[in-house]
Amino acid sequence: MCGIVGFKGHKKVIYELLMGLTALQHRGQDAAGIVTFKNKFHTKKGLGLVNNIFKPKHLKRLDGKIGVGHVRYTTHGSNEAVNAQPISASYPFGITMVHNGNVTNLDQMQETLYKEYHTLPETSNDLELILYTFASELKKKDLANVQVEDIFESVIHTQKKVKGAYSVIAAIANHGLLAFCDPHGIRPLIFGKRTVNEKTTYGFASESTCFDHIGFERICDMKPGEIIFIDNDFKIHKSRGHESKANFCVFEYIYFARDDSIIHNKLVANQRVKMGKLLAGKVNTLGLKPDVVIDVPSSGYFAASGLAEALDIPYRRGLMKNNHIGRSFISPSQKEREDIIKRKLNPIREVVDGKKVAIVDDSIVRGTTSKRIVKMIRDAGAKEIYFISAAPPIAHPCMYGIDMSVSTELIAAQKSNSEICSYIGADALIYQSIDDLKVLFKDQATCMACLDGKYPTKKAKKALKSIEKERIKNKV
Ligand code: 5GP
Ligand code: MG
Repeated sequence: MCGIVGFKGHKKVIYELLMGLTALQHRGQDAAGIVTFKNKFHTKKGLGLVNNIFKPKHLKRLDGKIGVGHVRYTTHGSNEAVNAQPISASYPFGITMVHNGNVTNLDQMQETLYKEYHTLPETSNDLELILYTFASELKKKDLANVQVEDIFESVIHTQKKVKGAYSVIAAIANHGLLAFCDPHGIRPLIFGKRTVNEKTTYGFASESTCFDHIGFERICDMKPGEIIFIDNDFKIHKSRGHESKANFCVFEYIYFARDDSIIHNKLVANQRVKMGKLLAGKVNTLGLKPDVVIDVPSSGYFAASGLAEALDIPYRRGLMKNNHIGRSFISPSQKEREDIIKRKLNPIREVVDGKKVAIVDDSIVRGTTSKRIVKMIRDAGAKEIYFISAAPPIAHPCMYGIDMSVSTELIAAQKSNSEICSYIGADALIYQSIDDLKVLFKDQATCMACLDGKYPTKKAKKALKSIEKERIKNKV
């Protein structure tokens, strides 16, 4: 999963790019990059957090009134600087691009690039497949007199060829800022603006929270397949693009997006509170009477408070999280990895000692975190522990950009609920039901493939097999 931004303004946009990326840091901490354009592309990419990569000298060097940026969470390709985005092509005009998602027909696209467009990708980043397909299509046009329609047609060709999830922003040198989504609109992409002295700067970002931080207003969420182009005169051009059935990723609401983001007119925090409230019925049905509800910080907070409210019992913070442990700080040895949770979380004994504790987390993926947390709370004196997942069992891998591994590593794909309960060491385990979750999204067509195995893209089973194979290879 990744976070992306792009701006076109009347002054340098590096500050918007940088602050925007910082606001999206939760979407990826492996690498970050920014490319701006003034006479030529100005590039800075690096591994790690935004704050550590960009120094004052880069702010000076990254000149230009247009640019794009990216924070990376590795799901495909290795985590090396060469794989960091943006990626730029010198033809036609010069295009620099970022994307969030995951391309699922990699082999087919690599063949198409070579045989049809005579291009060889340089990195293992799937963005290259989107970039070179678009650039090669645009190159076929009358470039001395290129029209917005030419750009739209090139995007539509790209959308027809490239399968999977992708929200894309591109700066086309001396032409404008382009954004488009895959035909199912699986990943978020928000269009925003800020007007000062009657001059408007336009931007695109993965989440609305980014616009809150930089004083932009949200114009709209991009629809499945939609294309928006801001030309050099700041005129907005829109096309429905190559659109298919909408399938927005439900896991953005469950875990990935920040609580304060508004996606498709729903505040993420509200959806999480509702997920928590829905779980109260199950707690009552099982006859459980917790004394206190605690959350697994930070993504379990709103669901936990919703559950406590519905049960009319106290919500307390029972686990404190140290937010200052960077990923790079963590040693990769197995022993150290096992200790991560101890360094990250510390129980507040007084909150749980001698009590029946309901622990709410957003989801259970591999079960390893949950197991350690249960032990931690038990060691802090809890009498009984009920582990409650705001998400239904995650039983199917995601191939659209969430790092939900291979099915052999998904605990719900391998074990029954009672087996999971005894594995994590809880006295009871409660999952959200898919039907209840569907009620929350009855007015929105979502992708719940990780929960129900219904993948929206064509030839999904075949794609999944090759993606799983590659992931297993990369893990060795
Ligand atoms: P588990 O108990 O399955 O090992 O871990 C569950 C935890 O992983 C939950 O707290 C959830 O917030 C977190 N989680 C879910 N999806 C992701 C992801 O894609 N990346 C990371 N880093 N954490 C995730
Ligand atoms: Mg979590």
